[in-house]
Amino acid sequence: MPYETVNIIGAGLAGLAAAVTLAEADVSVNLVSVQPSERAQSVLAAGGINGALNTMGEDDCPENHFADTIRAGCGIADPEAVRALTEHAPQILRWLDRLGVPFNRTDSGAIMQRNFGGQKKKRTAYAKSSTGKMLMTALIDEVRKYEAAGLVKRCSHHEFLSLLMADDGEQKARSTLPTAGDGEQMLVCGAWIRDTHSGEIIRLNGPVILAFGGMNGMFPGITTGTTANTGDGAAAVFAQGIRFSSLEMIQYHPTTMGIAGKRCLVSEAARGEGGRLFIMRGGKEWYFMDEKYPELGSLMPRDVVAREMYFVKRDPGCEGQVYLDMRHLSEEIWSKRLADVRAEILHYFNLDPKEKPLPVDPGIHYFMGGIDVDVNHRTIAAGLYAAGECCSQYHGANRLGGNSMLGAIYGGMTAARCIVREWDELQRHFHKWEENGCTEGRKSEAQTAPGSPWDLMPASPALCEEVSLILSASLGIVRNGDLLADADRKLKQLLERGDLNRRERNRVYLALAMVRSAELRRESRGAHYREDYPERDEAFRGMMTAVMAGDEIRIGFRGA
Ligand SMILES: Cc1cc2nc3c(=O)[nH]c(=O)nc-3n(C[C@H](O)[C@H](O)[C@H](O)COP(=O)(O)OP(=O)(O)OC[C@H]3O[C@@H](n4cnc5c(N)ncnc54)[C@H](O)[C@@H]3O)c2cc1C
Repeated sequence: MPYETVNIIGAGLAGLAAAVTLAEADVSVNLVSVQPSERAQSVLAAGGINGALNTMGEDDCPENHFADTIRAGCGIADPEAVRALTEHAPQILRWLDRLGVPFNRTDSGAIMQRNFGGQKKKRTAYAKSSTGKMLMTALIDEVRKYEAAGLVKRCSHHEFLSLLMADDGEQKARSTLPTAGDGEQMLVCGAWIRDTHSGEIIRLNGPVILAFGGMNGMFPGITTGTTANTGDGAAAVFAQGIRFSSLEMIQYHPTTMGIAGKRCLVSEAARGEGGRLFIMRGGKEWYFMDEKYPELGSLMPRDVVAREMYFVKRDPGCEGQVYLDMRHLSEEIWSKRLADVRAEILHYFNLDPKEKPLPVDPGIHYFMGGIDVDVNHRTIAAGLYAAGECCSQYHGANRLGGNSMLGAIYGGMTAARCIVREWDELQRHFHKWEENGCTEGRKSEAQTAPGSPWDLMPASPALCEEVSLILSASLGIVRNGDLLADADRKLKQLLERGDLNRRERNRVYLALAMVRSAELRRESRGAHYREDYPERDEAFRGMMTAVMAGDEIRIGFRGA
């Protein structure tokens, strides 16, 4: 019986883009997500999506976009992947336009583009300050077409538990599918999911695209993203031997405001439209970014801005709170480009940014690291692909604002195209696996079955808090060897406890891999700043990789 269905885990931008691409090729899809698409983090994205459309008369081109992305990523993003991303970006924006995304327009009707951090040209297309919501609305609608045609089956309120893997030696030896790995090959044959309403555990057969977003749930209280992306999916596949990379690269967004145990984002659009950062020094406003970086000022890449904020806040001559000043912006900017940003700040903080500067602090915003993929979004296991924020691709040591929605859409499409291209070969492998008795509970399958009810219980809030406190103390904007060694020791102690279930242990292992990747990168690059190694060291020009073998975490390095 041939496999007919691809299983996509996650229904944000990456998952939806993959679903549309597969359905267009007549491949049917199970679209699994713990929450409906309307509640995915992608909906929160405000500022915009990048693509060198060159609508603003600045002679922009994909080559400039490529150069800005590589430079912001501090030379460790894969140039081949970034080249493909930036060359396809204008096409993707035009496709979104055709799907009806209400992008802001210039007087002549072209798609308007704005400045965004770290970019020398106006290249970020936007729909007021609700770009993510508008993109998601268009893609949800597009997917609905295929749902009606029976090609896409929605499994909302279903949680991913683990991969179904054929891990016996025979299967490994025979498998010849290309992967991102270079050694012995694993084969992924499906996924285990749980209906969160009924509790039923379901086995899905077929290739899998992981698109379950970032690991925000590992950092509750200090992240701008949704903690509904718990990180459990990433922890489960890490524990199953899937390789990750760049786990130490965590982006702090410079302008966030604290509210009710969360960080509320003040979009980079605010600085893109002219907002400036200052701190009080000697009774006067000191616009430190403008003074230190005259070319881009407050619009320097996020790692640079967040670090400068960290240091000026600790400068004894300064008053300790950084402010975002938007008082000088025109009425037109407020009404046409930042309406939602202002409304949100008024609503949540009872502060009017037109009248008063906003007290802002950096908060965790994006994970450049994640599941290690090649340019086709294959992982190290045949039959397993990853796209969107859960994978490590395109951004190197620092992501440019506006590049992640682009990367999620392009990544989802690329993974889907790769599956369609390799469909016959995948079919042969799955068929062989099936013939070998996969359905009769072979030993290999039993080993990867989802586990006992105790093992499947969500991690306890107390354990989650303990892990997040350890991580936030050691993986801040400024790190050092002592803090990281302390975190390493505390996480190891957690693992020695006998009362953790499998999900809890997986979470601790993933946390440990983050800390060890940071410990072993003994230099400063992009989002990873070590005060004990403050210089960039070209010996570290490349990616830290992390993979589990049994109970051991192996950290490696792959040169760029
Ligand atoms: C406040 C904010 C503003 C942003 N603004 C911008 C911007 O202006 N421009 C830009 O480019 N980027 C922006 N970003 C980043 C960008 O939104 C994300 O990187 C991108 O949308 C991620 O898309 P995704 O499809 O990978 O993941 P998500 O949109 O996070 O979707 C993840 C999906 O996986 C599902 N899921 C999670 N865990 C499980 C599980 N265990 N089992 C089953 N399903 C699961 C979720 O329900 C969801 O459907 C912003 C981020 C935030 C937080």
